[in-house]
Amino acid sequence: MLRFMRGMSSTEKVDLVFVGAGIMSATLATLVKALDPSLTINVYERLGDMAQESSNAWNNAGTGHTALCELNYTPAKPDGSIDIWKAIKINEHFEQSKQFWSYLVREGVLPDPGAFIHPMSHMSFVRGAADVAYLKKRHLALCTSPLFSNMHYSEDRGRLTEWAPLTMEGRESPEPVAATHSKFGSDVDFGSLTRGLLENMSKQEGFRVCLQHQVEHLERIQGGWLVRIKDLVTKEDKEVRTQFVFLGAGGYALPLLQKSGIPEGHGFGGFPVSGMWLRCDKPELAVRHRAKVYGKAGPSAPPMSVPHLDTRVIDGQTSLLFGPFAGFSTRYLKSGSLLDFPASLRPNNLMPMISAGAQNVPLTQYLIGQVMQSKHDRMEALREYMPLARDDDWRIQQAGQRVQVIKKCPRRGGILQFGTELVTAEDGSIAAMLGASPGASTAVSIMIELVEQCFDQRLAKGWQSRLREMVPSHRQSLNDDLALLKHVRQQSNELLGLRQHSYVAA
Ligand SMILES: Cc1cc2nc3c(=O)[nH]c(=O)nc-3n(C[C@H](O)[C@H](O)[C@H](O)COP(=O)(O)OP(=O)(O)OC[C@H]3O[C@@H](n4cnc5c(N)ncnc54)[C@H](O)[C@@H]3O)c2cc1C
Repeated sequence: MLRFMRGMSSTEKVDLVFVGAGIMSATLATLVKALDPSLTINVYERLGDMAQESSNAWNNAGTGHTALCELNYTPAKPDGSIDIWKAIKINEHFEQSKQFWSYLVREGVLPDPGAFIHPMSHMSFVRGAADVAYLKKRHLALCTSPLFSNMHYSEDRGRLTEWAPLTMEGRESPEPVAATHSKFGSDVDFGSLTRGLLENMSKQEGFRVCLQHQVEHLERIQGGWLVRIKDLVTKEDKEVRTQFVFLGAGGYALPLLQKSGIPEGHGFGGFPVSGMWLRCDKPELAVRHRAKVYGKAGPSAPPMSVPHLDTRVIDGQTSLLFGPFAGFSTRYLKSGSLLDFPASLRPNNLMPMISAGAQNVPLTQYLIGQVMQSKHDRMEALREYMPLARDDDWRIQQAGQRVQVIKKCPRRGGILQFGTELVTAEDGSIAAMLGASPGASTAVSIMIELVEQCFDQRLAKGWQSRLREMVPSHRQSLNDDLALLKHVRQQSNELLGLRQHSYVAA
C-alpha cells in the first residue's frame, strides 16, 4: 500500500468521499452535513456538470413515486386479491423525501420548491374487462389505507374525459375502460433538486464538488480507503485518503464496487437497459393534459417499461412525455463505453449472469422488439394513450440508462431484480448504490438506511434525534399512525406548495 502511495504528488485527507454528483450523493451529503457540519466531504464527478446522468430531468420520468398510479407496485396474488404491501412502503418512503425537502425549504437551503416539485394528478388507466376488474379491486384494496385516501375510481367515459381529455378524445372502440385519479401526486425535477442541494452545500466549509474528476481506483488502507482520481482536464493523477467512500456512481457503481474487492460485492452483475421517450413541447397540448397517466406493462415487459403519458415541468416549461421505450445497450451510463457490460464479467458473477439470462429469455426478446421499433411503431403505442396524437407534434428524446441488478441466488443460481440494492462493507467503510427503481423518489429513505448501516456509532451519539427532527416519520409507520400522517403531510405539502389532503372517504 505504501509502495502505491510513493511517487504520487500529495495525498489529500477528507472524512468522506462520494463518487458521482447525482441525487443519491447530493442527498447523502446534505443529510450527513446536517448531522455533523464538521465533516469534510469531497464529491468527484467525471462529467462537466452535476446531474447529467439518470438524475437529469429528461433522463427520468420525474414521477414522485407514491404508488398512486404505478400498477406494478400492486400485483395480484394467486388467489386474485391485491398485494398492497409494496405500495404502502413506497408511499411512506416518498413522504419521508417530502419531509426532508420541506425541512430544507424551511431552513432556506432550498428556498424555491417550485424549482423542483409541482403538484400533478396521478392516474392509472386500463382497457379491457380483465384489467378493469383488476383496477377496481386495486382501488378497493388501496382505500383500506389512509395513505391512499381521496383516490377516485371510475368507468364512466365522461368522468375520464374530465380527468384526462387527451386520453379519451377520439377513443371510439366500445371496449370497457377505467381509471383511478388522485390529485395528490407530484412531478419532480430531480436534476434541479440535485443542483440545488450540491450548490448549497458548496457554500459550506469542508465541502467540494470536483467536476471532470474520475475515480479510477480504490484501495483499502488502515482506517479507510485510498482513492485514486484522474483530473480529466489536466490528466493529473490525484489521491485522497478517507474513512468512508460512497459509490453513488449510477451505472458505474457496479464496476467500482468490483474494484473495491469487498466480499459483499461478490456475485453482483448488471444488466443494462436503455430508454427512449416521445416528447411534445406544444403548449396548446400540454395545457390540456395535467396528469401522469400510467397503464399496464405488456406481457414480458420489465416493470420499469410501464407506458405512461406524463406532464413534465422542467425549467419553467411544460411538456408532455410518453414512454419509456426500452432498448439494449452494453453501456452502463449514457456517457459510458460499449465495453462496460463485458468488462463487468467476473468469475464470481458469471454463473449468476448466465442463470439470470437463461431465466429471462422473454425479456431479451421484448428488448430486441423494442429496439427494432420505428417512430411510427412508437406513435402507435402513444395513440393507445392519446388516440389523436399527430406524428409532427412529437419527437424522440433519449432517456437515461438503467443497470438492473443481477445477484446470486442459492436456489436459482442468479436472479434479475428491478429494485435498488444498497451494498455495504461489514465495517461500514464503503457503500454502493446499485439498481434504479423506485430510485430518486426514495433517495432520502435509502440514504437514511445507509447512514444507519455505516455510521451506527455516531447514530448512538445523538444523530438519531436529529434525524427525527428532519424526517419526523423516521422509523414510524405512517400507515398505522393517522395523526402523524396528517401532521407530516400537512406541514410538508404546505412548504412544498403541494395540495392538502382532506381524509374524507373517496
Ligand atoms: C428512464 C428512467 C426513468 C426513471 N424514472 C424515474 C421516476 O419517474 N422517478 C424516480 O424517482 N426515479 C426514476 N428513475 C430512477 C432515477 O433516475 C435514479 O434512481 C437516480 O437518478 C439515480 O441517481 P444516482 O445519483 O444514483 O445516479 P446518477 O444520477 O446516474 O449519477 C451518477 C453520477 O456518477 C458519475 N460517475 C460515474 N462513475 C464515476 C466515476 N468513476 N468517477 C466520478 N464520477 C462518476 C456519473 O457521471 C453520474 O453523474 C428513472 C431512471 C431512468 C433511467
